Amino acid sequence: MGDWEMGISRRLLLQRIGASGGYGAAYSAMRALGLLGAFAGTAPPALAADAGAGKRVVVLGGGIAGLVSAYELERAGFSVTLLEARERLGGRNWTLRDGSKVEMVGEDTQTVAFSDGLYMNAGPARIPSHHEGLLSYCRKLDVPLEVEINSSRSAYFWAEGAGRLQMRQGVNDTRGYLSELLAKAVSRGALDQDLSVEDKEKLLPFLRQYGDLAPDMSFKGTERSGLAQPPGAADQFARARAPAAFRDLIGHPQIGSTLFEDNINMQATMFQPVGGMDRIVAGFERAIASPLVRGAEVTRIRTQGGRGVQIAYRDRASGAARRVEADYAIITIPLALLARIDNDFDKEVQAAIASVPNDFSNKIGFDAPRFWEKEQIYGGLSFVGGETGLVWYPSNGLHSPRGMLLACYGSGPRAEAFARRPLPEQVAMARHVVGRLHPGHEADLTNPVVVNWSKIPFNLGPWPRWGERGGAQEGHFDSREYRLLNRPHGPAYFAGAHLSQTPGWQEGAVCSAQRTIAALAAQVRDRSLTGG
Ligand code: FAD
Repeated sequence: MGDWEMGISRRLLLQRIGASGGYGAAYSAMRALGLLGAFAGTAPPALAADAGAGKRVVVLGGGIAGLVSAYELERAGFSVTLLEARERLGGRNWTLRDGSKVEMVGEDTQTVAFSDGLYMNAGPARIPSHHEGLLSYCRKLDVPLEVEINSSRSAYFWAEGAGRLQMRQGVNDTRGYLSELLAKAVSRGALDQDLSVEDKEKLLPFLRQYGDLAPDMSFKGTERSGLAQPPGAADQFARARAPAAFRDLIGHPQIGSTLFEDNINMQATMFQPVGGMDRIVAGFERAIASPLVRGAEVTRIRTQGGRGVQIAYRDRASGAARRVEADYAIITIPLALLARIDNDFDKEVQAAIASVPNDFSNKIGFDAPRFWEKEQIYGGLSFVGGETGLVWYPSNGLHSPRGMLLACYGSGPRAEAFARRPLPEQVAMARHVVGRLHPGHEADLTNPVVVNWSKIPFNLGPWPRWGERGGAQEGHFDSREYRLLNRPHGPAYFAGAHLSQTPGWQEGAVCSAQRTIAALAAQVRDRSLTGG
């Protein structure tokens, strides 16, 4: 049935309900059909403590979306059971420490061997300060945060053939040259069609300041780009380093990375939980009293013609088959895995679930002495492009002897190609790039751990590829399938970061769970009003 046809038949249905039961009945039916305005924003729905009236909800998947669902539903008087396939909760929120095991499909299991106190966030590692939903749970659950230093002007961008350029030089020399060019264009009258005399009078002094231009409006270099000689005592004057050539700047394959920290999700101030991202998961575990069943792999979902749900799962420890019945299900299992689970959803829903492939992403961490701090790099990222993408320096444990250096993090087609390589080759490539960035330090990198998300059981990918504008991690997602899965289907509700506008962020999981809970609670209320 097409959207238009569906619209007609729903309208007829609502007219009939309205004619027999009045406005209230039509309103309830509209809610149940998911036709009313969506809950928006990142605040938990304000539900009374008895909103759930003892109705049973089974939550499938114990990542952030599942945990938010269980936490909020429990507080609203629902009877909740959460089923999670892994032995740990958190899903993609996963922190590796000494002794952690990394199992990947088709690879030998790796055992992490990190020095005391080091950890690697295999999935999420930073939280933007406008991700109010997630941050409010950190506040409520007493999860201490510290600043995640997401950018360092002492870090580099680098590319084979183009060499290494320090971030502060890339940013400020480029700005200087562009300011000079614009000033020339203005002074020669090339922009007279666009600028009034008054605009020009204001713009020129601003450009001088913006680009740190000389009095003749030329760019001759700036201390902002770094110092050939630092200021010292008495007559030890500071001297700016010579500017890079404009041609080399605009020709550098990584020049675009100078804008990275202007991406709305990458802007300072950013945070990380003290001790690892999974401290958030531990906070939820402390706060949720309902059963959170681990090692429970969902194998079958039945919605029983809308009369409730019946979930079959395998207890992975014993191999025993078990069942849970409930009035509703919130299903947060990533779509590519859900597509493989036996279910009785409508054909259209099944097709929508199956239509969304996963993206690819890899991370490689090493245990290393903090040689980067001797180059004044404290946190932040160096951009190296290629299959390994970037090098990410730790924000915590500054000046301690060792740190976890993330020597690879990328996504998309290059990450797909990288994950196809044997693990020792992946490690060698990451090590090689660090050696080009920080000559002489390749051999300092010890005890690597590789995470290829496309091979991690129960995720098989970092986030979905909805395939629309804005890439896979954030963007304006609005396909027919996306809308369909964001609607309830009888007693089954789908939720998770993949059904938000930020699939690559935990905030998406929070928003989606909160929206779903509001819709479910509204359905419970409306059914109780209509005796349904
Ligand atoms: P998940 O966490 O995937 O939870 C789904 C759960 O379903 C899992 O626990 C899984 O085990 C379970 N499951 C699967 N199959 C079954 C089954 N058959 N039966 C029962 N359970 C099952 N976000 C940020 O905020 N900041 C970042 O810096 C950031 N960086 C990231 C980097 C990487 C490499 C990755 C992979 C993700 C990153 N994210 C980041 C995104 C963030 O991790 C996710 O958006 C969020 O954690 C998703 O939560 P979720 O609950 O929707 O899904």
